[in-house]
Amino acid sequence: MNLIVFHCRQCDAVLFPARYLCPHCGASDWEEQVAEGGTIEEITVVRHRIGAQRGEDVHLATVRSTAGPVVIARLDEAMRPCAMVRLELDDAMRVLGHAESAH
Ligand SMILES: [Zn+2]
Repeated sequence: MNLIVFHCRQCDAVLFPARYLCPHCGASDWEEQVAEGGTIEEITVVRHRIGAQRGEDVHLATVRSTAGPVVIARLDEAMRPCAMVRLELDDAMRVLGHAESAH
């Protein structure tokens, strides 16, 4: 699924996740925009504790989306800040970040 962000038609603020009223101008006049990708600003690695069942580290990235808002995305592999990712939502409405293929 595409990651949708919300553009306020009154003041041009772009928010994610959606809010009822714009925190900047108080309007509720939204236009949906697709945030296709972004740039990683920070990485957090959540390490599973020893003894966890076949635990794999979870790589979370703070991503500045091209649409504007910063989102937290779960990466499918270890990546570095400044890398570009493609953003999407999974069925549980979590934001996923996929490495942009270089070709
Ligand atoms: Zn606004």
